[in-house]
Amino acid sequence: MAEIIRMNHEQASAVYECVHRHCANCVDGNCLLLDDGDFVPCPQLITRSLLCRYFINAVLPGDRQLYGDIFGSPYARPCRECGKIFHPKSDKAKYCDKCRAIVRRRQTRNRMRQQRGIM
Ligand SMILES: [Zn+2]
Repeated sequence: MAEIIRMNHEQASAVYECVHRHCANCVDGNCLLLDDGDFVPCPQLITRSLLCRYFINAVLPGDRQLYGDIFGSPYARPCRECGKIFHPKSDKAKYCDKCRAIVRRRQTRNRMRQQRGIM
């Protein structure tokens, strides 16, 4: 379960701006991703919690300053494995320290299996 990130007032209004300006799924305050034939207001616009995964992963990283402000570091991000926010030293890391070990072990195991011809 990913942790909920709460924003202060300044961050929330900056995010509000950012959604309106940069989110490809936001049209007139409605979310295309959630659209099921009826207009669905963007949930990210009406809350001070950071909850839209699309926004966090695809929109917010475009604004490094705001991103760093909210997460405490410019490279902080949710781990792709467990969803916990972690602070990598590089822009490429996808997993927190704990999951990186697990994922690496899994990849090695898969590779070995493929080499042996067992899928
Ligand atoms: Zn993790």
